[in-house]
Amino acid sequence: MGTDEAMLIDTHCHVHFNAYKDDMDDVVRDCLSKGVQMVTIGTQKDTSANGIKLAERYDGVWATVGLHPSHIFAGYHDEGEVQFKSRNESFDPAYYGELLKHPKVVAVGEMGLDYHYEYEGVSPEEMKERESSAFEAGARLAIAADLPVVIHCRDAHDDQIALIEKIWGPHEDGAPIRGLIHCFTGTKRDAERYLALGFMLAFGGSITYPPRKSDVKEGKELLTDVVKWAPLDKIVVETDAPYLTPVPHRGERNTPAHVKIVAEKVAELKGIGFDEVAAATTANARRLFRRMANG
Ligand SMILES: [Zn+2]
Ligand SMILES: [Zn+2]
Repeated sequence: MGTDEAMLIDTHCHVHFNAYKDDMDDVVRDCLSKGVQMVTIGTQKDTSANGIKLAERYDGVWATVGLHPSHIFAGYHDEGEVQFKSRNESFDPAYYGELLKHPKVVAVGEMGLDYHYEYEGVSPEEMKERESSAFEAGARLAIAADLPVVIHCRDAHDDQIALIEKIWGPHEDGAPIRGLIHCFTGTKRDAERYLALGFMLAFGGSITYPPRKSDVKEGKELLTDVVKWAPLDKIVVETDAPYLTPVPHRGERNTPAHVKIVAEKVAELKGIGFDEVAAATTANARRLFRRMANG
């Protein structure tokens, strides 16, 4: 790690995906040499296992294991620059339960509700039902293992929050839930509800994207307003690489090294120093992902 640069942790990347099959180790070493550590996020059985293999090889790389909602259905492919195939997978608690015993596994996920896509031959009711039960099974494993959860939620915050409350029970009596909402793009109201439950918010490349002109014109709340408002002790940064490449690199493959651009944007929006953002988000990530303390 370069001594002249503040350390950052990219809390959500897929640097173990096929998009990096030709230069994965170069990318990881480049990031580590720039002071960027990272968490590889599992999305189905094989990406969960592969993330652990990569994490085993490097200090400063950790993994999560889980089933992404879109991988529950056959035929899904990402509409972004990199395509991947889903496997019509149903959540296998025995398989993931075994993986998460690994000391480099710091959380369960990504998992959650994603109502953005439609899947051929799957009714909206069936989609919601299958996503909810996969999420619940993953959450139960995390609770049993005392691990935090990495939640992927798109166009489904009301149902997601209701499901969290159902699984974890009435929050007022219990300890705050350990987890984060990755690539948070919801409203301030959504954010407040997640924070009240104990979650952290993860901001990614989306915060660098220009807002819709009509939203600005109508004086609507913007994602950047949520970033400005969000308490510094409750946020972490991420890239979701290879996806969601920040400005000014849109159209290129993303890299965890670009988490620096996200942190710079957070600093700019909050009107504070980059080092302060780096120190806070790194401390937050370490507080959330307790197993990072094991190296
Ligand atoms: Zn996601
Ligand atoms: Zn992801």
